Amino acid sequence: MSTNFETNAIRIQTERTSQKEHSVPLYLTSSYKFDDSEEMRALFANEREGNIYSRYSNPNITELIEKVAVLEGAETGWATATGMAAIFTTFAALLNGGDHIISSRSVFGSTHQLLVNIFPKWGVTSTYADLDKTEEWESLVQTNTKMIFVETPSNPGIDIIDLEWLGNFSKKHGLILVVDNCFATPYLQQPLKYGADLSIHSATKYIDGQGRTLGGLILGSKKLIGEIEAFARHSGPSMSAFNAWILSKSLETLAVRMDRHCENALKVAQFLDANSEIELVKYPFLSSHPQYGIAKKQMKAGGGIVTFVVKGGGERAAKFLDALKMFSISANLGDTRSIATHPASSTHSKLTEEERLQVGIQQGSVRVSIGLEHIDDIIEDINQALIASK
Ligand SMILES: *Cc1c(COP(=O)(O)O)cnc(C)c1O
Repeated sequence: MSTNFETNAIRIQTERTSQKEHSVPLYLTSSYKFDDSEEMRALFANEREGNIYSRYSNPNITELIEKVAVLEGAETGWATATGMAAIFTTFAALLNGGDHIISSRSVFGSTHQLLVNIFPKWGVTSTYADLDKTEEWESLVQTNTKMIFVETPSNPGIDIIDLEWLGNFSKKHGLILVVDNCFATPYLQQPLKYGADLSIHSATKYIDGQGRTLGGLILGSKKLIGEIEAFARHSGPSMSAFNAWILSKSLETLAVRMDRHCENALKVAQFLDANSEIELVKYPFLSSHPQYGIAKKQMKAGGGIVTFVVKGGGERAAKFLDALKMFSISANLGDTRSIATHPASSTHSKLTEEERLQVGIQQGSVRVSIGLEHIDDIIEDINQALIASK
């Protein structure tokens, strides 16, 4: 193990087979053989480590988890089929009926559904808190509060909370702090360093980075991951070996991809900031961002997502999207290809207008996931679409 992210993302690996593969081989097997009945007994009794069945573990998944755990500064982790399965599994494994969650108000659309429509069925309730109003958080803690869940930077508002403050706050109240670290990736931000108990990823986004597979990851202490494993082994939200193999390869290029995503996104944010057709630009490393100082403290760079508001409201935003020639209109993010989304009519269409405004989504808001195409082509496409949509 190295002290450097890039080396660990490439060189940490599980044992290779007698074929001496240089790259990670793909282990497509649903179960594993035992040498004898005694080995079978010992593995089931947890007296020895080893593979039993791919719902529990698989060499591709083990290698992926070992790498990401080191990159996040975590003891260990668990992998799931999707990012949502990671969030669902975390809530379901660690919370009981009657427990309460404090969650950042702006969360991924499906996380909002879990909090508002699904977990209340089992008596788990939640209260939303604003990332930029930490002075209000104290009053939201109830006697049954057990967990804090936040996204930072948030989607699509690009709000940021001070993780150091939040780590101390959750410790003071004895709460489990869970951070959805999807936008930042372990390369830009490691929440566990600031006292978070679990860091969660939709690996579907930047960890895959090429828009191919779904995946989720949960990183944290052996104790909490043990509780998650006990739930997940029997409820079955496992990642597929094939996806783990893809994601393991993807991790090898995460650092170089993120460097370019961030470099391109900062240039786009600066271009938009100077453009008279734009009302507002939100990007963590733009000095006009209200939490710029905090972003600089806890993130290595600003990430690949820029959210902005065009002059002319929803009509202009729709025209802008339709005038784009290279950008894809898609709900995904974190791809090599640049993507534009209109959150109010897509990812956040289930919210009321008032709820949308509370999380910073106006009718004129556009979220762009800046890809790895040449920066001149990216800016040219945005520029021509702004002119064409006037
Ligand atoms: C996409 C996303 C998720 C959900 O991940 P899936 O892999 O699509 O299930 C959760 N949180 C954030 C911030 C996301 O962007």
